[in-house]
Order: sequence, then C-alpha cells, then structure tokens
Amino acid sequence: DTDRLENLQGELAAQGVRYVFAQFTDIHGTAKGKLIPLAHLGDIVSPGAGFSGPSIWGTGLPRNGPRSEYYGRADLSTLQPMPWLPGYARVALDGHVAGELFDACPRQVLRRQVARLAAHGWTLNAGLEPEFFLLQQGAGGYDAEAADTLEKPSYDTKSLLRRRVFLDKLTTSLDQCGLGVFQIDHEDATGQFEVNYKYADALKAADNFMLFKMAAHHIAEEEGMLFSMMPKPFADRPGSGLHFHLSLADAQGRPVFALDGGAEPGGRGLGLSPLAYHFMAGLLRHAPALTALCAPTVNSYKRLMCGQSLSGTSWAPAFIGYGDNNRTVVARVVYQRIEWRLPDSSANPYLALAGVIAAGLDGIENRLEAPDPVDQDVYQMSDAQRAEAGLKILPQNLGEAVDALKADTVLAAALGGEIVREFTALKSAEWIEYSQHVSAWETARYLDRF
Ligand code: GLU
Ligand code: MG
Ligand code: MG
Repeated sequence: DTDRLENLQGELAAQGVRYVFAQFTDIHGTAKGKLIPLAHLGDIVSPGAGFSGPSIWGTGLPRNGPRSEYYGRADLSTLQPMPWLPGYARVALDGHVAGELFDACPRQVLRRQVARLAAHGWTLNAGLEPEFFLLQQGAGGYDAEAADTLEKPSYDTKSLLRRRVFLDKLTTSLDQCGLGVFQIDHEDATGQFEVNYKYADALKAADNFMLFKMAAHHIAEEEGMLFSMMPKPFADRPGSGLHFHLSLADAQGRPVFALDGGAEPGGRGLGLSPLAYHFMAGLLRHAPALTALCAPTVNSYKRLMCGQSLSGTSWAPAFIGYGDNNRTVVARVVYQRIEWRLPDSSANPYLALAGVIAAGLDGIENRLEAPDPVDQDVYQMSDAQRAEAGLKILPQNLGEAVDALKADTVLAAALGGEIVREFTALKSAEWIEYSQHVSAWETARYLDRF
C-alpha cells in the first residue's frame, strides 16, 4: 500500500498537483473539505482527515458526545486532478466516527443501497441532468443579461453563445475528469442552461455531480458570474430540475429494464420488462417520502407547484404517475429507461439516489404492481379527471414531504434510522423557521388592509 501511495503521489506530482482537496458532502449536499499538501496524502487514507463533528451539518454531533470527532478517509479510486484548478486534485472521503464507518454519512448510505442491488447482480446506472442559471449582479440583484430576455428562450442561439467561454471551460474540465459531456443547451427560462454528461453507476454519478458543482461554481466565479442551481430563483420563470435517468444493468451489462422478448405486463407497449414495472411501482408508492429527499428545500415546492409557473408550463412534475414520453408526471418513460423528474439540485445526490434505489427495490422484492401509464397532459386535467385516473398530487411543501418521509417505515428501515432521524429533524426545523417568517409579501398585502 505504501508503494501504491508513492506511485499515486509521483503521478500527481508529475501532473503538477501540489494539493489534494479532501472532500466530503454534508447532509445538505454541499461540498466541504480540507486542503492537504500532496506529501501528506497518506494521512487522509489512515487515520483520515479530521474534522470537528459538531461543525458539520447532519452528523448528529455533538448529541453523540464522545463521538464528536469526524474522520473522512480517502477513497483513492476517486483521486483525480481538478483541471479547472491547476495544482489541485480531489478525493472523495468516507465518513468515520470512533474508528468505524459512520452510518449517516451520505456516501455510506448510498453504498449500502448499491450493495443491496449488487446482491441481485445489478448495477443502477444514473444520468443526472443539471439545469442551472448563470446570473450577473446588477443594481436590482442577480439576474441574466438583459439581452437574454426573450419570450420563449428555449434553445436560443445568441444567449447560448454569449456564455461560450464559461461553457467551454466547464466542458473541457469535465471531460478531462472523464465525465463525457454530450450536449449543452439554453433551457426554458431566461438565463437558464443545461449540461448533459454520460451516465455512471449510482455512486460514481453522485461523486461526478459533486465534481460538476465544484467546477461550475468555480469557473462561473472566475468569469464574474453567479452559477445557481437554486430550484426556483424566479417566480415567473421555470425552475431548475435535476432529472435522474435510471436503468438497471445485470452483471453482463445487459439492460434489465428493457423488454427482452416475452409479453409486456398489461400489454402496455412501452417496451419495459416486468422488473421495470415493479421498480416503477416502488418509486410511485414511495414518491411522497422520496419528495423530501429529492426536493428538500422550502424553495423546491415553488418549482413543483402544479407544474405551472406564473408565465406558463414549467415542465416540473406535480402528480404521481408515469407515461410514455410524458413530461407532466413524475416519471417519464423514454428509451426503455425511467426519467425520474422529481429531483432538483438542492438534493444531496447520495441520499436522493439511495432513496430511489430503496424504493425501486421495495417494488421489485415485493412485486408491487404499477398502475396504468398516463397519456394525458395532467396539468390540463380537472381534479375530478385526476381522481378518476388515480393520480395523486406530490407533497405541496417541505413540511408535508418531511411528514411523508417520517411515515414511510419501509424507506427508513432501508436507509437507516440515524440518517432519516437526522434529516427529518433538520428539515422540520427548516420548515418551521420558514413558516414563522413574516415575508415582505405579507406585510405589503395585509399591513394596511386590516
Ligand atoms: N425545468 C424543468 C424542471 O424543473 C424541466 C425541463 C425539461 O424537461 O428539461 O424539471
Ligand atoms: Mg431540461
Ligand atoms: Mg430531462
């Protein structure tokens, strides 16, 4: 192992690396860490990089008293240069407390679900689709450039090309990290973009998303802009989602969700295997609880609300159902994969993916039956039509979502009591704090009226 370390240090030094950013992800999905001079790489493998537990969101410390020191041990398989930051490499850490893996470390929570899949011989491949705003500071706060303001900015050429320096630096960096960017576009809102890169297995997909975030924030700042994946920064524009394209592969890499001969359950004609329908049924059954993990901020619900923004359709889901290429429900079936449209980028990617796997496995292991697919535009249906079609609405605020997670004993048992307790306690507090806040909207509306 000393040999392996010395080889790694030699290779990185030859690439000009002087520091390793020892990085973990807190419960809110934020990248945190320490800079370690390359010569000290060995220290963060064992005993690990030391952090004060109570200073980290989601460790349950200091409640855990004597367990208050948090050690992050480097997973060397993730060690690689950060090309947007010459001289620096990144390594992902696994949380340890008192010499043992920490149950509530988000990366560990996901590893446990990945291991459950592996016991079946399966890998979950996930393609995460980040949407984001690129903003500049002006007199009235942050906004897109005035020149970018169009009535229907989707796929706009000029606005896209105005951002080519940022987008090129980002693409080049991500490709050097092996992410494989394959398309970049201007999205539905003024100042909003999407960058797509190749899918990976669930753990790598989460690690890659953290790299994407770090790179994008850094490069935007260098270009004098603000990069934001806040779910709904503008009430009158569509919000930013983080759709998950999901598929299972077997040990030979064959797609488990694709119908391979045989009859499709219920003759539904979507090209999906019986296992895919069970997985889907699990996702839909646990959708209310998953909402807390996939859309975990007060602001998330302004994106999800009825799928409408003040100026029209926002293509964000509001109802629990699935359909063939249907963007108005929470799961869209496309190319024999499931596009899970619920998440936004305020989610911790490890926890959201862990939740998705736990829900899908409940569907498979208990052979849950999926309802019929939905072909209609559900935004346009009346309440009575939705009720008849059995379409339930997603939780409409963070408080409802947290309650749904607290009530979902299947998910809690799968994910682990400690992380669920920690997450729901923090998120309840966030919801209560928001609910007690008296906003400018309220005083403007009521102060003088009553
Ligand atoms: N921005 C939409 C959302 O919040 C998604 C648009 C799309 O389908 O790409 O989910
Ligand atoms: Mg999009
Ligand atoms: Mg999408």
